[in-house]
Amino acid sequence: QARPAPDYLAGLNPEQREAVETLDGPVLVLAGAGTGKTRVLTTRIAHILATGRAFPSQILAVTFTNKAAREMKERIGLLVGGAVEGMPWLGTFHSIGVKILRRHAEMVGLRSDFTILDTDDVIRLIKQIIQAEGIDDKRWPAKQFAQMIDGWKNKGLDPSQIPEGDARAFANGKGRELYAAYQNRLKTLNACDFGDLLLHPIRMFRANPDILKDYNDRFRYILVDEYQDTNTAQYMWLRLLAQRSPPSSPQRGPKPYPEEARSAVSKDEVWPDRAGSFEASLRSAPQDEAPKVNICCVGDDDQSIYGWRGAEVDNILRFEKDFPGAKVIKLERNYRSTEHILGAAGHLIAHNEGRLGKTLFTDRVDPDNEKVVVHAAWDSEEEARAVGEEIERLQRGDADDKKHALNDMAILVRASFQMREFEDRFVTLGLNYRVVGGPRFYERLEIRDAMAYFRLVCQPADDLAFERIVNTPKRGLGDTTIRTLHDYARARDVPMLAAAVDLIETDEVKPKARKALFDVIQHFRRWSELLETTPHTELAEQILEESGYTDMWKNDKSAEAPGRLENLKELIRSMEAFESLRGFLEHVSLVMDTEQNADMDAVSIMTLHSAKGLEFETVFLPGWEEGLFPHQRALDEGGRSGLEEERRLAYVGITRAKRRCHIWFVSNRRIHGLWQSTMPSRFLDELPVTHVEVAESEQSYGGYGRGGYGQSRFDKADPFANTYSTPGWKRAQANKSDATRDNWGTRSGHAVERIGYGESGPKAKTIEGE
Ligand code: ATP
Ligand code: MG
Repeated sequence: QARPAPDYLAGLNPEQREAVETLDGPVLVLAGAGTGKTRVLTTRIAHILATGRAFPSQILAVTFTNKAAREMKERIGLLVGGAVEGMPWLGTFHSIGVKILRRHAEMVGLRSDFTILDTDDVIRLIKQIIQAEGIDDKRWPAKQFAQMIDGWKNKGLDPSQIPEGDARAFANGKGRELYAAYQNRLKTLNACDFGDLLLHPIRMFRANPDILKDYNDRFRYILVDEYQDTNTAQYMWLRLLAQRSPPSSPQRGPKPYPEEARSAVSKDEVWPDRAGSFEASLRSAPQDEAPKVNICCVGDDDQSIYGWRGAEVDNILRFEKDFPGAKVIKLERNYRSTEHILGAAGHLIAHNEGRLGKTLFTDRVDPDNEKVVVHAAWDSEEEARAVGEEIERLQRGDADDKKHALNDMAILVRASFQMREFEDRFVTLGLNYRVVGGPRFYERLEIRDAMAYFRLVCQPADDLAFERIVNTPKRGLGDTTIRTLHDYARARDVPMLAAAVDLIETDEVKPKARKALFDVIQHFRRWSELLETTPHTELAEQILEESGYTDMWKNDKSAEAPGRLENLKELIRSMEAFESLRGFLEHVSLVMDTEQNADMDAVSIMTLHSAKGLEFETVFLPGWEEGLFPHQRALDEGGRSGLEEERRLAYVGITRAKRRCHIWFVSNRRIHGLWQSTMPSRFLDELPVTHVEVAESEQSYGGYGRGGYGQSRFDKADPFANTYSTPGWKRAQANKSDATRDNWGTRSGHAVERIGYGESGPKAKTIEGE
């Protein structure tokens, strides 16, 4: 008599259940968005644990983000009744890689307390190396070379293995040499970059089969989410760990870094190609001897969005070859989205060639069953305003008589620069938001410092601001002086700045501190006077210069310093939208007030790339314009495949939505500091009429066009006319931009004035990557 299925299996459909219960041998789940792939993985782990097949420490589970790892851990806990102690090997490729590397750092010539360099560190280091070699780093920028190295590492290539052509492409053939020098430098610094977190273990495993064997024996079950986005290095790493019978050679290989390597810089021998080609060795392995392992990978070829970072969608396509006897399971029922959302996404992605092609259906019954809505806005400021209004409507319950939580809403942008506009708008509205994958702009250290200066200029009684900056940069004002000021101020009930004015006349502070305080006071006096006469952005810049704050970061040799200086510039730029320093401070103080904690109800703002695997009731997708989405760089560099990857990104975006999906495009965007009229994204033309509607504009959009531009506006009466043959709104937009050009020429600045932007006009932004 069959025992009833445990609770955690009960809700699964037959295919999902098969994927969970097929514990022996390789399994590939290849299925579209929202079909429960991640859920299958989670349940599978629960099943392994519940049936006692393995201890938590014997399961290797790879997720794409740390957040996903945390969530998975939580859910497993719920499924098996909270008893999941550990799961030490559940994490991202990087987090697991670093754990392995710390255990064996000495095997690759590092100490276990090695530091991990971020991208900024890497670029600075490379710049030093390029300069030390006497190469012109203007002609051969460090950033470019950092990207090349990253690309090689993603492919699992050591300096000796990079293709000749690649090596020749940089610094007149010095590519290989520089790469080797970089690796040596890292070792001297006891540091590694992100790529090394996988490459070092790969080298270590190859050179030390006995260590590899320990891991092979340990990991009884291997599970990988988002398999379509693994790159070659990750693939090699996985294949090594998924080996059942490690190479039989009892000999330890040579240490990966021979001693000479420390001094030798420019020789190929630095990294002898001792491992041979791993790929080749895999290929030469007889198929019937190939290991049969309990590996389960899940993925969706339509959601492969990291090709630009070296992901190889082929990895998923050749799974059956790699793991003979693999069971391939397809899931077709989508549990996430409404019919309209799925229909729109499916129609869009059908424009890609070379897909495996999958069936997806939903029987989600949704009373509202809203179509995907496309909105037009004049510019990004209006876009942010309108999105904010829509969010408030949902929150208040005006949209459908239900009050919606902010947690259920997300704004997914193509490029991170798009976020600022939304952040600013939400602050004005007092709407909670959280930026996923980075700090909020106004919460960064350097921004807070700078703001403290501005606050004190406007409001000399702001003691918190005073304390924050009185000795930043260092002026020799120690704790004793500050305490004296504090006590004096408290005793007389005056602000600390006033206390300072009094105390510099007395002996209560030491002469050196007195001089320093005197200077500070003089500065603030002058700045306060300038407040009424000098344009506020100019004054702000002046304050940061004269106080020595900018210099403090210029002289700072740490890796973050250049980024902080960038942010300070952005801060000044963002002030342009306000009439005065006070107005700006008021705006920002609202942000500084609200804490960003995990529990609060807040709208999420993130890039499309970091939204992978997530889901929200309502999703806003702004910025669907040619050049931004699809992104110009993807088109320039990737051609057709670049475009297809952008389209997959759009597919990922739409399929994050459970019930509501709002897409926006604007007619004008400031790119590289210049106003440009933009064309709606070609992806809009690829959306099916049956599942999409165009929003009636209740916005001021129409109003802006008056004065001669009316004829050129996007035709709202029948925007989908000729959707398939002659893109209707593209044509309308094309006409518009012609008209625009005739009237405005290239003098974008004037255009801004003529359409009536006052002080509150949009701010300068530059297009950047994610
Ligand atoms: P993506 O491709 O976007 O990563 P996915 O295939 O991993 O999607 P999941 O996130 O696992 O899909 O599942 C999507 C949603 O459907 C989740 O809310 C999940 O809880 C729900 N779901 C999955 N399977 C079932 C099921 N059998 N019954 C009810 N809900 C389910
Ligand atoms: Mg998933």
